[in-house]
Amino acid sequence: MWVFKPIAFAGKLLSAFRLQLSCVWSSLVSLLLGLRAAFRLAGTESSRHQSRKAAAETRREEEEGMNQPPTPLSVNYHFTRQCNYKCGFCFHTAKTSFVLPLEDAKRGLLLLKEAGMEKINFSGGEPFLQDRGEYLGQLVKFCKEELHLPSVSIVSNGSLIRERWFRSYAEYLDILAISCDSFDEQVNVLIGRGQGKKNHVQNLQKLRTWCRDYRVAFKINSVINRFNVEEDMREQIKALNPVRWKVFQCLRIEGENAGEDALREAERFLISDEEFEGFLHRHKEVSCLVPESNQKMKDSYLILDEYMRFLNCRNGRKEPSKSILDVGVEEAVKFSGFDEKMFLKRGGKYVWSKADLQLDW
Ligand code: SF4
Repeated sequence: MWVFKPIAFAGKLLSAFRLQLSCVWSSLVSLLLGLRAAFRLAGTESSRHQSRKAAAETRREEEEGMNQPPTPLSVNYHFTRQCNYKCGFCFHTAKTSFVLPLEDAKRGLLLLKEAGMEKINFSGGEPFLQDRGEYLGQLVKFCKEELHLPSVSIVSNGSLIRERWFRSYAEYLDILAISCDSFDEQVNVLIGRGQGKKNHVQNLQKLRTWCRDYRVAFKINSVINRFNVEEDMREQIKALNPVRWKVFQCLRIEGENAGEDALREAERFLISDEEFEGFLHRHKEVSCLVPESNQKMKDSYLILDEYMRFLNCRNGRKEPSKSILDVGVEEAVKFSGFDEKMFLKRGGKYVWSKADLQLDW
């Protein structure tokens, strides 16, 4: 018996101690759980605060960006609306015959250069129509020789270009883009790309040769529409080997080729996005192809009209700003509707100087 008592006492002591320990342990666990929850809450609050701060920062940057006028890096100057062709979907029609005096046009180009312009593209109408290409030649020379612009280019239907023009002005020109929508002359006639007996496709071949001979980068622009959407142009384009083949989806512009006051009716030329995708898919092996859907095209060009007003296409029609000759570039460009992000997204900034293109003529 005398052995049993101390053991029983020790057992009692131990169980009392265990009871104490389990109380302490459970208090500790609740304390730790409480602390963890408090830390988590603090962490969530702080990360919420951080994301609120970042969102406010982005908003502020966006607002600042919106208030800042875009830089007119690449400008399309449609100095004339007159043309010798009658394309049914034309979206810069002959609404006026006005052309600025040469010296005023040069003044405007200087203002654009001072505002950051690096590339000028002359377009129309048909830019070679005015003064048999002399007016255009003078502007091209001025932009390269006096303004030292990295890139000077022209978009033309090609029908009025003579070799003598190349002899006088090719050295000042980086890129010549010729519009060609079909290699089937009948389709060109249906579209309205043609004048009398002139063969648009044969002319294209001649211009390609001159571009090679006189060291001008050669480009082709095609508008995909109801009449050419099924065509396969792979072989002809590869044979002509342009530096770029711009493929546009036929675009509807109120007041130009749609609506009551329009001079053209584009409705019967329009194609769906799926049809456009189908054309692109058929030509996907052509490496120089640069596609432009309606979506990409609409607000991603800085368009200057014959009065040197920026044309805003945001509302589906061309709404003019004031002329840069009257209010300056910074003020006028605010109303251009230009989407700088889309311009970059569609690859608007590319190697555009013939010196950098390193062509194997
Ligand atoms: S060639 Fe160009 S400017 Fe002339 S009618 Fe055709 S699309 Fe219009």
